[in-house]
Amino acid sequence: MTFLMKPCRQPALFCFVIAVFLLQFTATANAQWQQKSFQTLGTQAYIELWSEDSKQAEQLISEVQAEFERINQLMSPYIASSELSLLNREAAKKPVQVSAEMYQLLQRARQISQQSNGAFDITFASVGFYYDYRNHKKPDATVLQKARQYVNYQSVELLKNNTVRFAQPGVKIDLGGIAKGYAVERSIALLAQHGISNALLTAGGDTRLLGDKKGKPWLVAIKHPRQDDKYAAQLPLENSAISTSGDYERYFIEDGVRYHHILDPKTGQSATGLLSVTVTGADTTQTDALSTTLFVLGLKQGMALIEQIDGYDAIFITAERKMHFSSGLSQP
Ligand code: ADP
Ligand code: MG
Repeated sequence: MTFLMKPCRQPALFCFVIAVFLLQFTATANAQWQQKSFQTLGTQAYIELWSEDSKQAEQLISEVQAEFERINQLMSPYIASSELSLLNREAAKKPVQVSAEMYQLLQRARQISQQSNGAFDITFASVGFYYDYRNHKKPDATVLQKARQYVNYQSVELLKNNTVRFAQPGVKIDLGGIAKGYAVERSIALLAQHGISNALLTAGGDTRLLGDKKGKPWLVAIKHPRQDDKYAAQLPLENSAISTSGDYERYFIEDGVRYHHILDPKTGQSATGLLSVTVTGADTTQTDALSTTLFVLGLKQGMALIEQIDGYDAIFITAERKMHFSSGLSQP
């Protein structure tokens, strides 16, 4: 910064004040919003953060991408070397030791299963693996009947020393209902650790806001479940998480029936009754899993559950296209 080198003929204090002012001005001029879109965990992600230093911002954005990729390598069902694939291959034969991180996420999944009486159940995959939405494939009645009996979260035994065993062969797990929110939450923690205080990170339907949008709240839109170019609502939010689960994300329609990616563990078939559920709260791991859970539970039971969970709220859009808000979001 050459201006600091110039001889200053004014009194020293005055020169110092000017220098500090110029330094601050330069810092503010450098401070800016940095944005990036990227593909991860089979979906589109977007990050926006405020940083005083564009080099640091770029570095942090790469670290966030790396964090997503690390979680993908650990939890993807499509990667043969992932811990998730290892469990699906081996855990019915013998106890399998996994990382503490994987074990802890399995514990959180189990808690939500218990809380929701099995509406959230990572063993939905025992049936889920027979669906291929892109290629319009679904299990026939016989396969469905057989695979359904392996759907039971209690079959995932969490043993000592981060060891996991499946109670019987045929049990498969998938973390698609919780892993994205977890990755978002981890990444936001990483940004906060590096001194970032204003950021938005979204992956698929899971979004986390750090701080506000510098003086005003972030505005997060909820997609219209049937019109791509429309919003159903917009929520002003700060420092919180918001997740939406909808029947329009991955689906195909056959004989007038919509086969989509949120399965009711009781039937092994796509949950009906709602078009989308949005959950807000502090933690993206939780909002992610809860939005899937409430979608399965439907309006009545879903509303009853969310009303019991402190700090979490929900917006339900029913098949009749009506919006229902939990009490924390309702107008007084
Ligand atoms: P996305 O944001 O990927 O659209 P959601 O948060 O709505 O996802 O969750 C849907 C995903 O959750 C499915 O793709 C599947 O991987 C998983 N899933 C589906 N049904 C259940 C269920 N009953 N319990 C737990 N996970 C589920
Ligand atoms: Mg979810």
